[in-house]
Amino acid sequence: MIIGIDLGTTNSLAAVWRDGKAQLIPNALGSFLTPSCVGMDDDGTVLTGEAARARLQTHPHMTAAMFKRYMGSERETQLGARKFRPEELSSMVLRALKEDAEVWLGEKVEEAIITVPAYFSDAQRKATRVAGQLAGLRVERLLNEPTAAALAYGIQDTKRETKFLVFDLGGGTFDVSILELFEGVMEVRATAGDNFLGGEDFVTVLVDAFLSRSGMAKAMDGTELTGTQRQRLRAEAERAKRALSDSLTTRMAYQLGGQEYSWELTEDLFVLLCDHLVQRLRTPVERALRDATIKASELDTVVLAGGATRMPLVRKLAARMFGRFPSISLDPDQAIALGAAVQAGLMARDAALSEVVMTDVAPYSLGISVAREIGPNKYEGGHYLPIIERNSTVPVSRVENITTINDYQKELVVHVYQGESRRVSDNVFLGKLNFPIESKRAGEVSADVRFTYDISGVLEAEITVLPTQEKHTLVITENAGVMTQAEVAKRLAELSELKIHPRDKIENRTLVAQADRLYEQLLGHEREYLAQHIAAFTAVLNSQQPSAMRRAHETLTQVMRELGGSSFL
Ligand code: AMP
Repeated sequence: MIIGIDLGTTNSLAAVWRDGKAQLIPNALGSFLTPSCVGMDDDGTVLTGEAARARLQTHPHMTAAMFKRYMGSERETQLGARKFRPEELSSMVLRALKEDAEVWLGEKVEEAIITVPAYFSDAQRKATRVAGQLAGLRVERLLNEPTAAALAYGIQDTKRETKFLVFDLGGGTFDVSILELFEGVMEVRATAGDNFLGGEDFVTVLVDAFLSRSGMAKAMDGTELTGTQRQRLRAEAERAKRALSDSLTTRMAYQLGGQEYSWELTEDLFVLLCDHLVQRLRTPVERALRDATIKASELDTVVLAGGATRMPLVRKLAARMFGRFPSISLDPDQAIALGAAVQAGLMARDAALSEVVMTDVAPYSLGISVAREIGPNKYEGGHYLPIIERNSTVPVSRVENITTINDYQKELVVHVYQGESRRVSDNVFLGKLNFPIESKRAGEVSADVRFTYDISGVLEAEITVLPTQEKHTLVITENAGVMTQAEVAKRLAELSELKIHPRDKIENRTLVAQADRLYEQLLGHEREYLAQHIAAFTAVLNSQQPSAMRRAHETLTQVMRELGGSSFL
């Protein structure tokens, strides 16, 4: 069974194609959303999902979140005694989803389709594949998130030619894709995006505004908030942001040093404060329309995906830019995972799905470094020669011819880059190929450089030296930030030594983490009352009696509801 996974910045989901339709898979807590969070418990056990998320505030140094932003880089996160790469953290989330799927389906799950932002670079895509491998999953396909959203909306079933735009604003990334369906072929015409723009940035705006407008910054007089305090304030800002999706006003409040700071805010003020973010949303939309040579009025449908598109200010922007209201019949959090399941169904050739050929585009231009003539017999190196241009439909294979520029040069060196800048120093270096050539006069040796970019975003460069037809190939597998297969094997062995919190006990562990979070918020009698209930609950957990544990779980949940409301559960 192939499962579809939306590996999100804030939350991840799994879905499967079963009984002729896409179905979401609940996790051990019965929820479809699993927070993309990983934490280390006090005894060194790994916690994932909601249990880890609840500890973000109480144990910020033992908990990691938002690591999707660092996929494809070498940045490591310290959790307890160990450092983890973003692939490893992602693999723990994937492992939890895999286990949830196995329990729900009652069978082993070894294959997955994982979605990635269309704008993900080669290194980021490879890191996602490695994450799957570390989780014990064979990644059958990486699917672009907007393509997945379109599949979820059933665009492939449209009988006539359709042009549509997917506007996907998640927790940390923004993607715009323009797709076209024509005679059963779904083509991604253009993608553009911003890897550092998402719902979390709107939270940051609220945190900063709260600090200055509630008078708290003044009272702090230059001292910094601790990690825990900052996380608590972010949680309050997150709550306020969501409240503004349903009502026109809300209030943010925060306790510091026995004093309560508060701030009333309105939807209008929120719009004003976020103006710079809203402006940043326009740029990729305009670029995608330009690259696809499509006018906004020619689009048949606009699909919204990503939890942050629930914000009315984002919906209004979309309506203004496209002159129509976007499609929102699916829950924007779920569309991508459902689409990944549709893709799984297509791969399994389910009869209920009409055959559709899918094409995608290369998100960046790919090319080589060349020297250009800047005067008679004067050359300057470091110029960029794109071979595959951004937004070319993939799979794609293109060739360019190059010639030697120095007399009797004994070697040909080809540097491969990705990016859009004229000078290679501003682009991302992907790899290098060098080999000896026959020593001849300048211009007498030439070579064809063929780039082949496949549907999963893997690049192969093949160089054919022309007089001899000698071929040299470079498959870009090891660029900066990408783990080698030897390193993957080593990390896999290390990960297998970690203790993972058992799935059947995660519900109770999550409740304790949530109760600890609430405890930090309370003071005085309420705090003491909660502490007694947490102690009673953990004592019952140690007794291992299922019925007593169930009762104690209900009691603690009830107490937490009374004290803190449902936002702590
Ligand atoms: P995703 O990465 O698609 O799961 O999107 C998560 C983002 O959606 C986070 O930044 C959430 O704060 C945001 N989000 C979820 N629900 C709402 C809501 N009701 N109003 C505003 N933002 C939301």
